[in-house]
Amino acid sequence: MTGIQEYWQNYIDGEWVDGGAGRIDVIDPATGQLLAVHALADARDVDFAVQAARQVHLAGELAGLRPVDRGRMVQAMGRFLIDNLDEIAPVLTREQGKTLWEARVEIHGAARYFEYYGNQAETLEGRSIPLGARYFDFTVLEPYGVSGQIIPWNYPLEMTARSLAPALATGNACVIKSPELAPLSLRWIALAAEAAGLPSGAVNILCGYGREAGAALTHHPRVNQLVFTGSVPTGIAVAKAAALNVVPCVLELGGKSAAIVHEDADLDAFVEDVRWGIYLNAGQTCSAMSRVIVHESRHDELVDRIADMAEGLSVGPGIDRPAFGASMGAMISELQRDRAESMVTEAISAGANLATGGRRPKNHVGAFLEPTVLTDVTQDMAIANDEVFGPVLSVLRFREEDDAIEMANATPYGLVGGVFTRDLDRATAAARRLRAGQVFVNEWYAGGVETPFGGYGKSGYGREKGREALWNYVQTKNVAIRLG
Ligand code: NAD
Repeated sequence: MTGIQEYWQNYIDGEWVDGGAGRIDVIDPATGQLLAVHALADARDVDFAVQAARQVHLAGELAGLRPVDRGRMVQAMGRFLIDNLDEIAPVLTREQGKTLWEARVEIHGAARYFEYYGNQAETLEGRSIPLGARYFDFTVLEPYGVSGQIIPWNYPLEMTARSLAPALATGNACVIKSPELAPLSLRWIALAAEAAGLPSGAVNILCGYGREAGAALTHHPRVNQLVFTGSVPTGIAVAKAAALNVVPCVLELGGKSAAIVHEDADLDAFVEDVRWGIYLNAGQTCSAMSRVIVHESRHDELVDRIADMAEGLSVGPGIDRPAFGASMGAMISELQRDRAESMVTEAISAGANLATGGRRPKNHVGAFLEPTVLTDVTQDMAIANDEVFGPVLSVLRFREEDDAIEMANATPYGLVGGVFTRDLDRATAAARRLRAGQVFVNEWYAGGVETPFGGYGKSGYGREKGREALWNYVQTKNVAIRLG
């Protein structure tokens, strides 16, 4: 018995409703057992949600508020998540597979977006442009209206908060398509909107298949702006839909990010970075450190240390792992685990060697894969270019610095990158040359909600997080007044 409710509904215009496409089973990936059943939205449900959001926009219920009041509501949503953390965390763990402590970290992360963007609401200002004595000219930053947001399953709460918080803070009404593999915990986003006093229809949350509800949302003619976080092929479909309606879209896609480790790097500190970089959330993080490119003089020593660390992680059901520490949960599904496992097998046939992991832990039935380290990977192998989205690290080696940079830049992606060295000149030069939206020097994941995030190349376009994200959700209007 999981103790969670059996049937979960969609949230449209302030009401909990069934879905026109029926229901979907939500599976606990740690056990393979049915966890709950969720209402499944169809195109008609999406239309209701978009119309509800549009009404909120046209009536000025959000956009017409004084920004400080709107900002306070957004902040209250974050506090609501923290207040309900003990209830939300086990649901997120059971539907997604992550450890209970990771679920708690994710809820804090989601709350932080509401705190940050709630605070930013009243900082957006237009400007006055001088046109001579006979004119008065000013600009206004207006919300687009209805923001359609498509969410992936890896961090359902945090990814939702990342787009929803700045969209609401700038006065947009939102329709969110939750991930069909992990839709349950978004219920608390809807409850948070209600508790914060947002008008009905300002936040709508629907679970549905991508090809049905997702496509209906991205093609809807009354949606004014789109945010998509997910894979490259789906991102291309979303961008095409946005183009047909001539609406802007933000694409936050995948990555194959590399850390370059020089001979003078602090390896004790770096092994900790690897622990978080590739094994957090069982490697299902878009900005994961999926490649390490290490100077040949430190290669063997580093691989030994990483393998020791990986073998020290306790792998098993996330619900049994409440305490922050050296543990890792299930992947999202057996399908994803099988895909990752077969990528490891293919890499070995292409000439890579297994330093550790690569197997399913014997004592668990669910979607588990041991923390894996592949060595002797070269940049021409598929494993060095394709996103695994699992706990699989590829280690490559270099002799000349230029080669390291070239390898790091050799994939079609460009989400993040890292340089590990005590030489600040070398780090700064590398930071300039790496083609990635974010570069970490001596700490993977350095930064936070305040720092802009997004891709170069096939990792997408537009920026989320930081002040930059606000510009996704507003458009500039110029008002020029001819004086008498
Ligand atoms: P996905 O592309 O399969 O699905 C993402 C979402 O898109 C889901 O909600 C899905 O239902 C929906 N969808 C699917 N087809 C659709 C369509 N035709 N039209 C509209 N919506 C559709 O991705 P995923 O497997 O859920 O997530 C993993 C991927 O997401 C990885 O590639 C990862 O790197 C990426 N990701 C990127 C970021 C980032 O910020 N850059 C963050 C998290 C995940």
